[in-house]
Amino acid sequence: MKIIMLGAPGAGKGTQAKMIAAKYGIPHISTGDIFRANIKNGTELGAKAKEYMDKGLLVPDELVVDLVIDRFKEPDCQKGYVLDGFPRTIPQAEALDKALSAIGEKVDYAINVEVPDENIVNRMGGRRACVGCGATYHIKYSPTKVEGKCDTCGADLIIRDDDKPETVKNRLNVYHEQTQPLIEYYTQKGIIAEVDGTVDMNDVFDAIVKILGE
Ligand code: ADP
Ligand code: ADP
Ligand code: ZN
Repeated sequence: MKIIMLGAPGAGKGTQAKMIAAKYGIPHISTGDIFRANIKNGTELGAKAKEYMDKGLLVPDELVVDLVIDRFKEPDCQKGYVLDGFPRTIPQAEALDKALSAIGEKVDYAINVEVPDENIVNRMGGRRACVGCGATYHIKYSPTKVEGKCDTCGADLIIRDDDKPETVKNRLNVYHEQTQPLIEYYTQKGIIAEVDGTVDMNDVFDAIVKILGE
């Protein structure tokens, strides 16, 4: 099963992708996580990506596409995967289709998690990320047992550099301009599925399971 998560920054793509990965036994591939790991490890790719990420801009397509397509070659991708944060532009979607059709495969579902812009700034303000394992929390909607410490690994939680309100506004503009057209792209392919992302995260997941099947 090959699944793409679509939605604005903060819509809950990552939260839902992790739940999908656990239930269906497929890897969660997040390009944002891959870039953040590269930044943390001080790689050249990380340094290049950070310039764009800190401004709320997209990393250029040529730095993203090969990275993702190479990732599919890993053995854990045999049964499929859930892509979170990729594709984010029409050229990325076209590159993905081309790479898949070359091996006789295709994307099965593009799930659009719908959350209006008004809710987004609130969500991002409360998002916290674990420096150790990358788990995501929310101070109000998904709090940790001990304030500021990850439930899973005990490491400290931080606010992502790009979750500051000014950067969030840029990211929303970039989303509307460059990523939202993908909804139409996948609608035309007949694989779009819409879910309401404003409800409780477990209810969002129930709606997704209805689409993907038990
Ligand atoms: P969010 O979870 O808020 O949607 P991500 O973690 O997916 O954010 O991405 C963080 C940043 O990483 C983006 O704002 C962008 O700069 C960069 N990025 C991630 N995925 C892509 C991609 N597919 N194309 C270009 N840039 C990307
Ligand atoms: P994305 O990957 O789309 O950027 P995340 O999954 O990181 O979004 O979610 C953004 C923030 O909102 C996180 O702090 C997360 O805990 C919280 N969140 C996710 N889904 C919901 C929901 N349905 N209701 C309330 N908060 C949510
Ligand atoms: Zn952790």
